[in-house]
Amino acid sequence: MEKVDIIGGGIAGLALAGRLDPGRFAVTVYEQRPELPTVGTTLAMWGEAQQALSELGMLGAARSRGATIKTGALRSPTGEPMLSMEGEGLMGISRPELLALLDSAVPETVRRIIGRVDKLPAGAGLTVGADGVNSVVRRDYWGKRSAARPTPFLAVRGVIPGTPSTADIGEYWGRGEIFGLAPAGTGTNWYASFRSGAGMDKVDVATALEMTRRRYAHYSPAVLKVLSLASPENSLAQQIWTTPPMGRYVRGNVVLLGDAAHAMTPNLGRGACEALIDALTLGKLLNEMSLEAALAAYGRKRMLRTQQLRLASSLMGSIALAQGMQPWRDALLKQVGKQVARSRRKAETSK
Ligand SMILES: Cc1cc2nc3c(=O)[nH]c(=O)nc-3n(C[C@H](O)[C@H](O)[C@H](O)COP(=O)(O)OP(=O)(O)OC[C@H]3O[C@@H](n4cnc5c(N)ncnc54)[C@H](O)[C@@H]3O)c2cc1C
Repeated sequence: MEKVDIIGGGIAGLALAGRLDPGRFAVTVYEQRPELPTVGTTLAMWGEAQQALSELGMLGAARSRGATIKTGALRSPTGEPMLSMEGEGLMGISRPELLALLDSAVPETVRRIIGRVDKLPAGAGLTVGADGVNSVVRRDYWGKRSAARPTPFLAVRGVIPGTPSTADIGEYWGRGEIFGLAPAGTGTNWYASFRSGAGMDKVDVATALEMTRRRYAHYSPAVLKVLSLASPENSLAQQIWTTPPMGRYVRGNVVLLGDAAHAMTPNLGRGACEALIDALTLGKLLNEMSLEAALAAYGRKRMLRTQQLRLASSLMGSIALAQGMQPWRDALLKQVGKQVARSRRKAETSK
């Protein structure tokens, strides 16, 4: 049996543990959390991530627990649509539900060690860094230069009871701040992001909520209603951190996946999707090839794509959270919005 130590039992770590051939690999997952979380907000799953869930045999279960989002709009703070979007099924699923599904697919043969890893397990075999943005695996093998970096942005988010009206769904872009609102099962998932000056340490949720209410006081009634129902018990707040650019995800018998490799700003909603795809890709390659060949192929398949997405996310963040350029950005968005609506009408009439 070949030894595989997975540091981190989050989305990437659990998905990989569930994918590796138990007949060939002796797998251990090290996770600091004693139990799966029961509270968390919604993760958007794009098509490729839904395909990954399908390959893991859990797309049906994920769909039945999540919500499909078919329409939305980029809106002004008062709710006026600047650009309407219709798409084929972006799926939203809560992080606890996704983790529970991935956890249930991990075979009994996988050893689980609960506790924070500060010193990496010794011995031959493969070490997998699936330990998120502040990865100790990356710190130990890629050095200080690879340390995570804080962005100036705070993310405050939560789920409140009651589904939103279609007329309110979307992302509201203001001057240096965004607010998102979408259905989540029988509730409404919301998020807000802005420069806060709250510092890099753990953020107090009640203080962050107060800050959010003040900041968004001029927003549409739908946003104000959501914020009036948000409480420290159903909300989360954190500073956004990202990884620096990375040129390799593999060093010897050590490999990074998910946020440990490419933590990105949440503006494209891709981090968890890519963590899943990393795990599925690596698992499949390891099951089919020698260790060395699998690691080389993993780097080739995943590095460029995920680094591009990391950059694209932060570019999207700069546009969405623009301050001085905001009036020009909104004028451009409205023009694009009109153009898209015209093309859609044309396509409808020619059907
Ligand atoms: C505000 C916000 C909104 C987001 N929205 C979306 C979205 O809509 N769609 C999307 O695709 N992505 C989204 N993301 C990104 C997504 O949350 C991450 O990309 C995803 O969680 C990465 O999964 P992971 O398994 O790589 O890392 P993590 O989820 O961070 O998991 C790492 C695991 O390792 C454990 N761990 C860490 N260090 C140690 C240690 N030393 N010892 C033992 N265990 C350890 C942790 O406890 C954790 O369980 C969002 C992120 C944020 C911040």
